[in-house]
Amino acid sequence: MASSNAVLMRLVASAYSIAQKAGMIVRRVIAEGDLGIVEKTCATDLQTKADRLVQMSICSSLARKFPKLTIIGEEDLPSEEVDQELIEDGQWEEILKQPCPSQYCAIKEEDLVVWVDPLDGTKEYTEGLLDNVTVLIGIAYEGKAIAGIINQPYYNYENNEKQQLREHRNEAKAGPDAVLGRTIWGVLGLGAFGFQLKEVPAGKHIITTTRSHSNKLVTDCVTAMNPDDVLRVGGAGNKIIQLIEGKASAYVFASPGCKKWDTCAPEVILHAVGGKLTDIHGNVLQYHKDA
Ligand code: AMP
Ligand code: MG
Ligand code: MG
Repeated sequence: MASSNAVLMRLVASAYSIAQKAGMIVRRVIAEGDLGIVEKTCATDLQTKADRLVQMSICSSLARKFPKLTIIGEEDLPSEEVDQELIEDGQWEEILKQPCPSQYCAIKEEDLVVWVDPLDGTKEYTEGLLDNVTVLIGIAYEGKAIAGIINQPYYNYENNEKQQLREHRNEAKAGPDAVLGRTIWGVLGLGAFGFQLKEVPAGKHIITTTRSHSNKLVTDCVTAMNPDDVLRVGGAGNKIIQLIEGKASAYVFASPGCKKWDTCAPEVILHAVGGKLTDIHGNVLQYHKDA
């Protein structure tokens, strides 16, 4: 380990602040009430104003500070001047105090690839299932995911359905003082931070899978694993958070559909706490810029 003027740690510290700004934009678009929904390939493959604004914000903010990075965002957007109001220049000092794992100290800016999912769980966002939504910034070096930042803009948010269920069960809910939103971050060799690591109750086998991109193969595969329970929720980032917080034991999705920007940041957080993410054959995923 060595001190953190290393490019990687400066990038993670900036990406943390940029992800927090992204979370604010996601909440602001909802508050303003015009989601500007566009269908991309089909009715379950959507883009909203939040996807567009957040991608502009993240990619431009990163490119200004780190002009030699390769940055790949999910959305196809026309190249246009980005409103200054969308630019985040800050960096989270707590991350700069952390040592850079020695194997990453000499990395140069031009060797890093950043995979950006400006809004993961867009379908659920349009349906008001706001706590399913995350903003994902994944950082790869030599094809391997090595650092990741996940902002969950509506952490602590109680949607009506959940509230009613809790009230019915007489359970405590997040009080009005609960802070909305959080940022989870991690670097391989250093750890993952911003959440409480938990495991599912011993002996329980709970699978989490897609809510809005299912098909027969996906459900057959889940059934064949004979789980005690199945959770169907939106977002790749959200499902990885369920794993690290002990709500599910495995995330199973036997179908094409997830892209590098969906898995890069979540994979790092999962690997940093001892989990594993692979393709359907058990192979690690590659994150080179043209993989
Ligand atoms: P889900 O678990 O359905 O929320 O999917 C996780 C991520 O993969 C989201 O970003 C989805 O948009 C993406 N995804 C999964 N399957 C598909 C699909 N069939 N078409 C488009 N995007 C998909
Ligand atoms: Mg996504
Ligand atoms: Mg997305």
